[in-house]
Amino acid sequence: MTQTDSSADSQMLLAVPTKAARKAAASTVAALLSRTDCADIVRVGIPRALLYYRYGVLWTTFFEQLGREVVVSDISDKDTFDAGERISVDECCLASKLYLGHVQSLIGACDAVFVPSLANKGHRKGFCTKYQSLPDLVANTFYDRELRIVSLLVNETEEKIDEKSAFIALGQRFGVSAADAKRAYRAAFSAQQRADRVAARAQERLMARLDQERKHAQDQKPDRDRTVEQAPASAPRSGAPSMEPPIDGQLVAARPSQVRHEAPLAILLVAHPYVAHDPFVNGGVVDVLESMGASVLYADQTDHGKALHESFEFSETLPWIVNRELVGSVTLLHAHVDGIVLVSAFPCGPDSMTNDAVARCIQGKPILSLIVDAQSGTAGLETRIESFIDILRYQQRGGYLHG
Ligand code: SF4
Repeated sequence: MTQTDSSADSQMLLAVPTKAARKAAASTVAALLSRTDCADIVRVGIPRALLYYRYGVLWTTFFEQLGREVVVSDISDKDTFDAGERISVDECCLASKLYLGHVQSLIGACDAVFVPSLANKGHRKGFCTKYQSLPDLVANTFYDRELRIVSLLVNETEEKIDEKSAFIALGQRFGVSAADAKRAYRAAFSAQQRADRVAARAQERLMARLDQERKHAQDQKPDRDRTVEQAPASAPRSGAPSMEPPIDGQLVAARPSQVRHEAPLAILLVAHPYVAHDPFVNGGVVDVLESMGASVLYADQTDHGKALHESFEFSETLPWIVNRELVGSVTLLHAHVDGIVLVSAFPCGPDSMTNDAVARCIQGKPILSLIVDAQSGTAGLETRIESFIDILRYQQRGGYLHG
């Protein structure tokens, strides 16, 4: 085709790509792929925040496979958060403010910071828009600083770019061949899968042990039922000795063997991974639960594929993949836990909708919903968790909540 083509031909050109147009497009893609603008980067910085807690193994392994040194920012603390908050707009959620603090801490410690843009992994598998806009957010926040950003885009629905092709293209920008970039991605993908499997299996083993202990405690129940029937109306506090009626009707402390057989208390913690596994963000909720004798199961450590599949039983339309996996995990683990704790970072849009739906629709288990922000401190959190655990213990002993 030439510029002298008739208008009818031009219309056809718009409707059906010609051989020449396809060739031109292919050479543009090839030119983009052959860019090696990251070849000089030796040290890649990765902020220990947001989806690092989900894809950290994948990202780290990928760059290491490319022969790069990876620098991960330190664990979160108040200084990191304060730094992030100073440069954030008020509307940012706690987790994304903290992310900016982590980025800032990497300036000068690496040649470039990896800030991916994750939009979706397909229909109904979207990511929070914050993850998608991160490269723009970081570039605009640090426009006057010496900060080089390395990014990629995963957007299967609109751009038809899946994770694998995004990483292969990125690898080529680091100056390696397509085949080597593919190998690096495969190794990284397998490493992430292995890490996820190890976490999921460890959790399954813990759950099986708790189920067994619960059954064992159930077998001891006649003794404990007798205890409860004679117990005073107020619920004993967790950790207090249970009471049994002696022959003369006075209540005395239970024998140690009975205390030992108290059923375990399994709590399902439902939160984004960067909330659940970062004690600075969650206000130490895991420590508080464990200090009260509870065993914590993590909703984000259930097999991701199973949880995602299960989530469609709960909702056909929920748009966010991570929230989907959390919800799916709630329904899969429901029968194995005594209570559910939802933790959300203020002000999280996806969680406000999802957690409200969970609280309304998941029946039969007590649910505690917590919203954390960096200003609130932990005193209120501890009090609420203590009350929640007291209620669960009372229920276990035959109290006023019956499933
Ligand atoms: S999912 Fe919520 S907490 Fe996470 S980045 Fe988005 S708004 Fe922030």
